Amino acid sequence: MERVHNFSAGPAALPPEVLQSCAAEMLNYANTGMSVMEMSHRSSAYRDIIDDAEATLRRLIGADEHFSILFLQGGATLQFAAIPLNLMYKGRASYILSGNWSKAAWQEAQKYGDAQVFASSEASGFSCLPQLPYDESMPDHSLCSTLDQTLDYLYLCQNETVFGTMFHTLPYTGSTSLVADVSSCFLSGPLDLERISLAYAGVQKNAGPAGVTIVIARRDLIANAAARNDICPRYMSYSVQDKHESMLNTPNCWGIYVCGKVFHWIEDQGGLEVMEQKNWAKVQLLYDYLDESSLFHGTAAPSDRSISNVCFRSTSPYLDNAFIDFAAKHNIVNIKGHRLVGGMRASCYNAVPESSVKALISCMHEFESQYR
Ligand code: PMP
Repeated sequence: MERVHNFSAGPAALPPEVLQSCAAEMLNYANTGMSVMEMSHRSSAYRDIIDDAEATLRRLIGADEHFSILFLQGGATLQFAAIPLNLMYKGRASYILSGNWSKAAWQEAQKYGDAQVFASSEASGFSCLPQLPYDESMPDHSLCSTLDQTLDYLYLCQNETVFGTMFHTLPYTGSTSLVADVSSCFLSGPLDLERISLAYAGVQKNAGPAGVTIVIARRDLIANAAARNDICPRYMSYSVQDKHESMLNTPNCWGIYVCGKVFHWIEDQGGLEVMEQKNWAKVQLLYDYLDESSLFHGTAAPSDRSISNVCFRSTSPYLDNAFIDFAAKHNIVNIKGHRLVGGMRASCYNAVPESSVKALISCMHEFESQYR
C-alpha cells in the first residue's frame, strides 16, 4: 500500500529511511543475532546505542557536559509533576498559560507548592500567546525587572500543540530558571539553551516513537537531591537519573534506538537550522493559502503561529467533517483538530515532506471550488 500523507499531531510520521533501517536490523542487530527489543539494556551493544543517541543529540542541540540529557518514560505528562518535585526548592514558581498543556502542568504543580500564574491568554480562548511584560529599557525580551527573581522557575510551553501557537523567541529570565515544554517543536529548529535551564519533550512528534521523554537540564540546577526529596519517587529524581545515566531501571530500549536513528537523519539533512528553514517554508505554504481562502481560515493569531501545528477551520463543523472525509479519500489522514477545539489541524513535523503539504493544499483547493 502507498504511504499516506500523515499529518498526525503525535505519534507522528517518521522518516521512511529510519523505518527502513529499523526493518533491515529487526531480526539481527549488528550481528548480535537478535533485535534491539530482545537484548539486555546492560549489554555492550545497547550501551553503544544509547551513548551514540546521546552524543548525536548533544551535537545537534549544542549541549555540552554542563547539561544532563535524560531518556525517561511516563510521557511529557509525568514531567508536569517531576518539575515541581525536583525544582521547587523554595516552593514557589510561576507559569505562563498559553493553552491546554501549560495549564495542565500548572494544575499538577499546585499539588507540590505555590504555582502562580505569570500571564495567561485563556480569556482569548488561547488563540494567541499572552502578552508578557517585557522590560522596554532592556534589549531582547527581558523579564528581569518584571519577574520575581526569587522564584524557583518560570514555566512555559514553547509550542502549543492544540491551539497552534508558538513562542518564536524565549524570554530572558535573569536568575530565575526558565523551564520549557518543547514537546511539539523539539528538533523542529535549534533549542535556545542560552535561555532555557530545563527543556523536555515527549519524542513522539519529531524525534521517535511514543514512550520516550527527553529531559535536557543544566547540571547545576539538578545536581543535588530533588527539592521535594521526601516524596519525589527515585525514578523521577533528575539527579538520581543523571547519576544512573537514564538506566536506573530498564529504559525504553527500542524507543531510544529509534530516536538515535532520527537524530542521525536530522544530521544528514543538514542539522537544526536547515530543519527550521524547511519547516517554516512548508507551513508558510499552508498559512498563505489559509490567508487567501474564502472557505478556510487559520485559528491562531498570525504573529504567534506555530512551526509545527497548523490549526484551521472552514465555515461550519458540518463542512469541517465533510472536508476531513474528502481529504481521507485523497490519502490525507490525521487532520482532525484536537477534541478540545474541533476543526482541523495539520501537524507538519520534520518527517512530513513538502510534497504532503502541497497535496493537502491542492485538496483544500479542490474542496473549496466544490463547496463555495
Ligand atoms: N506537552 C505538549 C506540548 C504536548 O503536545 C503533549 C502531547 N501531545 C504533552 C505535553 C503530553 O505528552 P504525553 O502524551 O507524552 O504525556
